[in-house]
Amino acid sequence: MDGFAATSLSPGVLPDDEAGEPRSFLDRLFDGGLLIRTGVDGLYGRSGAFESVVEAVDRLATGLGAEDGAEALRFPPAMARTAFERSGYLKGFPNLAGTVHCFCGNEADHANLLACLEAGDDWTGKQAASEVVLTPAACYPLYPVAAARGRLPADGLLFDLQSYCFRHEPSLEPTRMQLFRMREYVRMGSPEQVLAFREMWLERGTAMMAGLGLPLAVDPANDPFFGRAGRMLANNQRNQGLKFELNVPVNSVEKPTACLSFNYHQDHFGLTWGLEQADGSVAHTACVGFGLERITLALLRHHGLDLAKWPAAVREKLWG
Ligand code: ATP
Ligand code: ZN
Ligand code: MG
Repeated sequence: MDGFAATSLSPGVLPDDEAGEPRSFLDRLFDGGLLIRTGVDGLYGRSGAFESVVEAVDRLATGLGAEDGAEALRFPPAMARTAFERSGYLKGFPNLAGTVHCFCGNEADHANLLACLEAGDDWTGKQAASEVVLTPAACYPLYPVAAARGRLPADGLLFDLQSYCFRHEPSLEPTRMQLFRMREYVRMGSPEQVLAFREMWLERGTAMMAGLGLPLAVDPANDPFFGRAGRMLANNQRNQGLKFELNVPVNSVEKPTACLSFNYHQDHFGLTWGLEQADGSVAHTACVGFGLERITLALLRHHGLDLAKWPAAVREKLWG
């Protein structure tokens, strides 16, 4: 990763919270009406002002990739359970998955459900797994669709995605939501093609975030694979340089927040989905993910909760 050696963020890059009674960043976002409480940690409404930033960041990502000829696809925030099962997500992240369950009883079961509800007892007995699962990452619904088209063309394929994603990781850090939007570009082809794509986006993403006045560091990273076997997978991923994150201090300097991630899956999805290069060999894939809420929150944390008072250069980049 030439030019992207691990860096460190110096203390002092995070503005102090306002003086007076200390309020958490999350509470300040609620107070300012930017996020709206639902009673569940990590599940929030967003104000119009918040959304105007999300949309502007999304547009920036579109602009950066405009010359590349990516095919834009949008999926609803759920995917077929059969595809989810085959994807391998449950091997790595059983704790994060969100499955959709629906009532499948008769009228007596319905009466029982209502009685349980009334009594404050568990009413979920007759709920059964449906054929849909919530999307865990924007690129997950794409691989089976691409594989069904047959072999890749010689120069591979490039897709542009955006989706709400679900991960069951309730948290008081506003940057760790249960439902959030991920903008992604996904490249499929030879190892050389997908690695060149990732290198290019490391540069583009870094320039974009620096241009928004955010302090950042690009660091090797790993996914939080579940359990003891997961620890080995995580170490391999990190040591082989398969995942990099662009971190910005938002909640703290010590634990900065991954706002973009750059992932090389090697032949994992190619093997899983039978995705082939033009010559019949297994396709490699890579994706770059922009966390739209996280980038928005990083901007709010560094430039303040009043968008009108953001630096002119930043406003210009976002809204022209
Ligand atoms: P983290 O290490 O912080 O959990 P991650 O490795 O799980 O992040 P990815 O799986 O690479 O993140 O997801 C792509 C992008 O989606 C991240 O770079 C981040 O910006 C965003 N993202 C991931 N999880 C969340 C979340 N719980 N809430 C908001 N944004 C998220
Ligand atoms: Zn992805
Ligand atoms: Mg995570």
